[in-house]
Amino acid sequence: MSGRLDKLRRKLAEGGLDGILISQGENRRYLSGFTGSAGFLLISQKSAILATDFRYTEQAKNQAPDFDIARIEGEMQKWFPQLISSIKAKRIGFEANGLSFATYHQLVANVGKKELVPTEGFAESLRAIKDDRELELIIRAVEISDAALDEVASTIRPGITEKEVAWELEKSMREKGSESMPFEIIVASGPNAALAHHNPSERTIQQSEPVVIDMGARIEGYSSDLTRTICLGNQDKVFDKIYHLVLRAQLAAIAAVEAGMSGEEADGLARAVIEQGGYGENFGHGLGHGVGLAPHEQPRLGKGSRDVMAEGMVFTIEPGIYISGWGGVRIEDTAVLKNGKTRLLSKARKIN
Ligand code: ZN
Ligand code: ZN
Repeated sequence: MSGRLDKLRRKLAEGGLDGILISQGENRRYLSGFTGSAGFLLISQKSAILATDFRYTEQAKNQAPDFDIARIEGEMQKWFPQLISSIKAKRIGFEANGLSFATYHQLVANVGKKELVPTEGFAESLRAIKDDRELELIIRAVEISDAALDEVASTIRPGITEKEVAWELEKSMREKGSESMPFEIIVASGPNAALAHHNPSERTIQQSEPVVIDMGARIEGYSSDLTRTICLGNQDKVFDKIYHLVLRAQLAAIAAVEAGMSGEEADGLARAVIEQGGYGENFGHGLGHGVGLAPHEQPRLGKGSRDVMAEGMVFTIEPGIYISGWGGVRIEDTAVLKNGKTRLLSKARKIN
């Protein structure tokens, strides 16, 4: 953890800040090791304070040995002025994406003579590069989602509902050691598969239609993210064509995404294949996203993304084609950038 603080402090210095207030949950956990659901980190070049309420102070002491623990209670005006005046810092960053409007107002009202500076992506950019321990946890999560999908997919029969399949998947992942689901499992059959983020419904799965299953497990906070599209019984010509186009796009990206490339360039590799196949309009989302303590984090692989792919990043590659009224196909793997190249972590079977 202290290596992470050193990196953050270097970034603070580069950004002309004397300190930063961290309020975003995954950033708090990443920098301190503290897994509680409430609290702030106040970090300067010299000090590191974790402020949390009585429910968590014991836990905080155990989990965050690099931090001084401050117990806080009630409204911000009761504790924030003292906390902020206890560190030697004039220009203090806060996380523009990690505060409610109401909390922001309380901050401003209680900051005294110090200057508050909005920041974006300070800790998030550190989180994008995984160390060996983080990678190990993600691989364990990937192995669980792979195994659960293989186990449950072979039992799916026509007549079972989307919700039932989602529950079987969740049960299987939990039995294999996953923590609570990092995001709601998607099981989208037939026309529902045209909706990239469909919630599992009472609809029964039929023969010869696409079924998109998107799921992830979680170990010590770290997620996996996996999508497969299956078809019970005979695949019709449309399914066959769309499936293979998406697969070709995915394989093209896996083969070519490399360090130094922008998120937009990475996205373009798969998009070009789908556009050439005539379905560019039907690939409405980005190619992928970083995976870690949050199931969606930096880098973003998509149109307009200037994120630069770098060694140690863990991210998804998930092209899809969605056709209203018919359904859709998405294929998603979690991958790591190793020795400059994309290496797949997920190994779940792809049909055909
Ligand atoms: Zn997914
Ligand atoms: Zn994803």
